[in-house]
Amino acid sequence: CGIVGYIGYRDVCGVLLDGLKRLEYRGYDSAGIAVLNNKEIEIIKEVGKVSDLERIVSNRAPKGNIGIGHTRWATHGGVSAVNAHPHSDGYKRFVLAHNGIIENYHELKDELSAQGITFASQTDTEVIAHLLYKVYDGNMLNALTYLQSRLRGSYALAILNRDDTDHIYCMRKGSPLVLGQGDGEALCASDIPAILPYTRKVIYMDDGDIAELSPRGIKLWDERGMPIEKKSFFIEWDL
Ligand code: GLU
Repeated sequence: CGIVGYIGYRDVCGVLLDGLKRLEYRGYDSAGIAVLNNKEIEIIKEVGKVSDLERIVSNRAPKGNIGIGHTRWATHGGVSAVNAHPHSDGYKRFVLAHNGIIENYHELKDELSAQGITFASQTDTEVIAHLLYKVYDGNMLNALTYLQSRLRGSYALAILNRDDTDHIYCMRKGSPLVLGQGDGEALCASDIPAILPYTRKVIYMDDGDIAELSPRGIKLWDERGMPIEKKSFFIEWDL
């Protein structure tokens, strides 16, 4: 299972598919990408190999420079295209890729269902997107610190907001996520090989960290929403 996210000036589909291939060693059963362009998010996901996804994408590659990709190792919900990531809130306002397990997803799903929210998939992940949609009031940092307070279990998350075409948001607890700061571009990924073709400058996220990626830089906060500074590392080794 793996996550890759990119924001910058390159054609994002190529970066995402290449990144997912570099994370294939982690194992997976399905794969998908989401591309944000012109305040619309397009999602393409399928069961099988990244090369299968690549074939589908090549026929109708969404244009854009911001996107996220995921390889799924199913834990909750069978192996199907619907259960593959990225997942959305139903309106494709928030679209996200998740590695890990949300242990209290049943409780959250019941709470959201009682408010009339319907679910498209059988995954634990989908509750995160609906919860985010529900609490977002224009301030992403507040929404994400609230999410951290509600989610039990483990997660690495890469999140797109349809109305915010300048950022990717990341959050982690218990599942790996590293950030890459390039020149006019930024990335997130489960592991360094997906980042190295673009930059050698990486930041390791710690549990509870929240990150905002833009082409101009990376901002970080702790789980209480306080700004933090983190050392970046220069990766010397080659792929
Ligand atoms: N628990 C999530 C699911 O089953 C994510 C699995 C993963 O880490 O790939 O969809």
